[in-house]
Amino acid sequence: MNIIHVNSVIQSYDIIIGNKIRHLVGKYLPKSYSAILIITDSNVANLYVEDIVHGCNVQDVFVEVVSPGEQAKNINTYYNLQSKAIEYQLDRKSLIIALGGGVIGDLAGFVAATFMRGIDYVQIPTTILAHDSSVGGKVAINHESGKNLIGSFYPPVLVFYDTDMLKTLPEREIRSGYAELIKEAMLADSELLERLWNVSLPEVHMEETTYFLERGISIKADIVEQDERESGKRMFLNLGHTLGHALETKLGYGVITHGEAVAIGLLFALFVSNRELKADLPIHALKTWLIKNRYPLVLSLEMIDDLVKIMKYDKKTIYKQIQMVLLQGISAPVIHMIDDSKLKKYLTAFVMEEMKEGI
Ligand code: ADP
Ligand code: ZN
Repeated sequence: MNIIHVNSVIQSYDIIIGNKIRHLVGKYLPKSYSAILIITDSNVANLYVEDIVHGCNVQDVFVEVVSPGEQAKNINTYYNLQSKAIEYQLDRKSLIIALGGGVIGDLAGFVAATFMRGIDYVQIPTTILAHDSSVGGKVAINHESGKNLIGSFYPPVLVFYDTDMLKTLPEREIRSGYAELIKEAMLADSELLERLWNVSLPEVHMEETTYFLERGISIKADIVEQDERESGKRMFLNLGHTLGHALETKLGYGVITHGEAVAIGLLFALFVSNRELKADLPIHALKTWLIKNRYPLVLSLEMIDDLVKIMKYDKKTIYKQIQMVLLQGISAPVIHMIDDSKLKKYLTAFVMEEMKEGI
């Protein structure tokens, strides 16, 4: 078992990572609670909720199950969960547990952030991807005009990661999580990146995944500690995400996973960095790795106009200039403004040169 401590301005917390530790969650809660509400989705509930309930060591434990997928992050589900919290008589000394992937973490975290002006919550991530979203305190639900438009910065009191739960993940969820690990390695650790190139999904060993998760979480925690509210350094975590988010929006959520979209965004970030900044980034190694691991490289020329429009309205766009995170080298990210016409030119060249299977 490993513990990574995160110093947050709002409140500091531990991330505990271990194998088969889910039965022990009660032991690691930072204080005692009047009641616990576990929020999870139906897939995760079937597999793991009983273990967590038994591990809580509190008399009043309630469970609310929502349907799986991004769709659950809506205002109605949010409101229903608030109603349940009131019905179960949760008070300011109660706890919410988010048991699931990124969707559940965001949703349950936002319920906790706003119930009675904020009660404690614990993240129990069950996907590889959620190593990223469970650290840093961003919580949100979606508005029909965009993802995560209603939200807050509200850190958990504990992140409790049982890697044994990852063994039931579908293959595309493993791919999704690994793209975010590649991103973290590119931002801060070239050795980690070299190790990641050797990974073949989905057979990768759980001990290896645990190692990557610990490194990825440390990198993320380090950046978040330096800039919790995303005024500077935290922006770097958007590497691959400007295009990634636009692709998710364009294709419709669920067509490809978040990480699969980010993977294409990362390849594009390397492509642009090599041209704009005359960098020498391993675009060939990344492309080879993505193809080997069956990431869908689905960007096509017809999509470009729409993608650029979506990128312009991204919540991270400032004064309508598109901001991209580029790399001067591995571990050397920079923020770069880029205008639409240049972006279109790069996207066109990128599709022609990189979005085909030939290497
Ligand atoms: P993320 O945003 O982290 O990818 P989601 O909350 O969108 O996570 O979950 C992705 C999908 O994987 C959902 O259908 C969810 O029910 C399912 N899932 C989450 N954790 C597990 C797990 N440990 N085993 C099997 N399926 C899981
Ligand atoms: Zn991401």
